[in-house]
Amino acid sequence: MIIKNVNLETVCGITSTLPDNTLPEIAFAGKSNVGKSSLINAVMNRKSLARTSAQPGKTQTINFYNINDAFYLVDLPGYGYAKANEAVKAQWGKMIERYLRSSKKLKAVFLLIDIRHEPSANDKQMYQWILYQGYHPIIIATKMDKLNRSQIPKAVKTVKQGLEAEKDAVVIPFSAQTKQGREEIYDLIDNLLTG
Ligand code: GDP
Repeated sequence: MIIKNVNLETVCGITSTLPDNTLPEIAFAGKSNVGKSSLINAVMNRKSLARTSAQPGKTQTINFYNINDAFYLVDLPGYGYAKANEAVKAQWGKMIERYLRSSKKLKAVFLLIDIRHEPSANDKQMYQWILYQGYHPIIIATKMDKLNRSQIPKAVKTVKQGLEAEKDAVVIPFSAQTKQGREEIYDLIDNLLTG
């Protein structure tokens, strides 16, 4: 995939009507601080278009990036920010659930998990929501540069087990620093768009 044009076309807040897009959508979910903005910027080949978390978890929006007029990359709100108040925590859940339930063009959901950590209760819930809506979550294990190569297979296994993931679930280790894993993500998106 070659990224030619990127345009942040729609930003939806809690009360916004979700867009009735005609192009396919590919969504990215993950807890606040997992490295979602960094990954999205790396995938879009832009330095800082997706917000990086100066105030993690504060912005509760769903952002639709039009890529090459071929598909939308959908940035779902980061969940589970410990310092957010309960009302904000409840909002992200509602927004994500509403989007997963109602999007007609959603092709796949990538779920980001920090490669160094056991998935949290929120991560597990997110994984189950995605499954429940009929999608097979594609897991991205972020910040792989923080581990040695030899530690990665075990860490990937821990992530998979912690999520109680499907046996054949795909896990892509990724680093926004080295861009390792980016080609795999491009290949998967290409397949999703042509398949
Ligand atoms: P978000 O809240 O999920 O959007 O996370 P950010 O992309 O803002 O990243 C949170 C923090 O993790 C920032 O300090 C990033 O610099 C750092 N980070 C993100 N991705 C990576 C990565 O692949 N490797 C390393 N070492 N740090 C990362």
